[in-house]
Amino acid sequence: MSNTKENKLMKLCATLIICLLCIVNIYSLPVSAVASDLPVIRSVNGWSVPAGSTKQSSTGVYLYPGDIVYFDFTYTPSHTSMSFGLLTPSNTFKLFNTAGSGIAKSTITITEEGVYKFRVRNNSSSYDATINGKYYTGCSYPFRSPYVAKKISTSYTSSHYGLDIVATTPGAIEGYPIYSIQKGTVEVAEFSASAGYYVVIIGDNGYTARYLHMQDTLEVNAGDNVTYTTLLGYVGNSGISTGPHLHIDVNTVNGTAGESSGGTINYNTTIDPESLFPQISFTY
Ligand SMILES: [Zn+2]
Repeated sequence: MSNTKENKLMKLCATLIICLLCIVNIYSLPVSAVASDLPVIRSVNGWSVPAGSTKQSSTGVYLYPGDIVYFDFTYTPSHTSMSFGLLTPSNTFKLFNTAGSGIAKSTITITEEGVYKFRVRNNSSSYDATINGKYYTGCSYPFRSPYVAKKISTSYTSSHYGLDIVATTPGAIEGYPIYSIQKGTVEVAEFSASAGYYVVIIGDNGYTARYLHMQDTLEVNAGDNVTYTTLLGYVGNSGISTGPHLHIDVNTVNGTAGESSGGTINYNTTIDPESLFPQISFTY
């Protein structure tokens, strides 16, 4: 074979390989690679909603089945009948009815994937209303099911740098699937004598989160990319633990600076996980 022919053949092969890589890349992209902006907290300050009218947010939020939208609003005048809810991807008004009295506090669980907008309707024919508050999205982190009867057994303190989450019925949380509370990369997925089976995620948001005391069936490996729908493992009782629970902590120092070997952590740079992800502490 002449040099020219060989070169041409090699170029053709290289092109084919690059094309194949491209195809593999396209197909390995997650289906949910759309612009998900979970979790998000949005404030609504002094929205005026005239009598008989409906108002909705101008921007939408991409939600997944199992996600929950939390509403926490006050409105005046308090005797006005108001409906709070979401405009769904199929353009219906998914709402909860408030009990009145100027307070609207409840949740909606998402069953249809897609873009949602916050919506409020003033049912009064004579009173203009003003609303204040916030709505925030996510799921019952770090469990995507809203039906886990969970509670915080030990809060974030200077002597306990994370949250302990247990079931309201002792032991019932064992084996429950745990999902990442943030997008990021798995730094550690291993066993340590104190932390048990644990996972460390370096978040794209600049925070490092650790999940401790899991069962021995970790579902991720170091180097994996994770998102809010990535299964990390299951609630366990491994390491130094007195019963099935999930310990979760968040470090403001990203990566190995916040997480040293053996499951220990730089305590001085931790923050209360609830301050970053209020969805964690939501209970029914
Ligand atoms: Zn703990």
